[in-house]
Amino acid sequence: IFSQVTLAPADPILGLTDAFKADVRPHKVNLGVGIYKDEAGQTPILSCVKKAEAILLETEKSKNYLGIEGVQAYNQAVQKLLFGEQSSIIANKRAVTAQAPGGTGSLRVASEFLVRNTGSTTIWVSNPTWANHQNIFETAGLTVKEYRYYKAETNDLDFAAMLADLANANAGDVVLLHGCCHNPTGIDLSIEQWKQVANICLEKSLLPLFDFAYQGFGAGIDEDAQGLRAVAAVVPELLIANSFSKNFGLYNERVGAVTIVAEDQDDAIRSFSQIKKTIRANYSNPPAHGGLIVSTILADASLHQEWQAELTSMRERIAEMRGLFVASLKAEGVEQDFSFISRQNGMFSFSGLTKSQVARLKDEFAIYIVGSGRISVAGLTKNNMPAVCKAIAQVILS
Ligand code: PMP
Repeated sequence: IFSQVTLAPADPILGLTDAFKADVRPHKVNLGVGIYKDEAGQTPILSCVKKAEAILLETEKSKNYLGIEGVQAYNQAVQKLLFGEQSSIIANKRAVTAQAPGGTGSLRVASEFLVRNTGSTTIWVSNPTWANHQNIFETAGLTVKEYRYYKAETNDLDFAAMLADLANANAGDVVLLHGCCHNPTGIDLSIEQWKQVANICLEKSLLPLFDFAYQGFGAGIDEDAQGLRAVAAVVPELLIANSFSKNFGLYNERVGAVTIVAEDQDDAIRSFSQIKKTIRANYSNPPAHGGLIVSTILADASLHQEWQAELTSMRERIAEMRGLFVASLKAEGVEQDFSFISRQNGMFSFSGLTKSQVARLKDEFAIYIVGSGRISVAGLTKNNMPAVCKAIAQVILS
């Protein structure tokens, strides 16, 4: 039976990490996968996380199963981060949240819920988008279509094209929106543009699904939720898949959540029963550790404050690297205008480097970036910056 199985292609991002690990050149640099690195090139555990783990070590009495929906205090804390403490959506009990394994698990649960329980069978994703989106949605049984998003000539958003494509969607279609720090372009909508997207979703009865994996990496926790909150103020129904992999540095704990906002509490209760049925069929209930870490931090004023400070320092370091990257490329004699990189948000930058330039960076200089030209700016440090910029200058200039 297994002799008929064909070899799957390597994942475009995680496959690159495998190649990086196998590379023996000591000066190698991985700017592929979206992992935050500090100035020393490390991905340390946040200090607030270590403290929460110490508390859990002392206080945890049992490893009994969680309920299907996970840690309840966690789910409530997620809603506050998404909608704001005073949100009427929370007060009116229109939102239901289930803890899920990372942003990926949350997207998968959301998609399977839609396929099994609603007439929504088509999802529109931005072109380009995170490489795993199509894989997740198609595996769950959704048909994936693309709306235009990025204009290569200007390294900017093509908002008119985005609206034109969404105008072609049918009632009931799902629209995947990156809450902030769009992956891979780093280009986000302005608040005015979010309002226009909200209106088109309302007019055409489209269902927004927010992928919110980088809250706090753009401008701040509340600032980065402005798009989501603007859309939620207009449309009656939406879904959110959020992740704490990046903003709590909890990559391998697999901690995220799927949230449904329904028109009223009755719809929310019935929808939640189906979300739980989907979870039960997939992994029964989520792992506890990550959810408990996050809920412990968010429930404690001083740990919450410490988390905000640590998140701010990650965000500010990336912003500093963006500026330094643009200046260093210029200093290396690259005349091409890369100033757009300092205007982008989050971990990634769509550099505009071609596939062959990307291949040369890997083969000749041991610098790993994704084939699309996406650079993880969060992997740049003052130490590796000179070598990276010299190499990029060489592949551009010769
Ligand atoms: N959505 C986007 C846009 C992402 O970039 C990522 C992580 N690379 C995820 C979802 C998934 O996050 P997680 O690791 O929590 O599954």
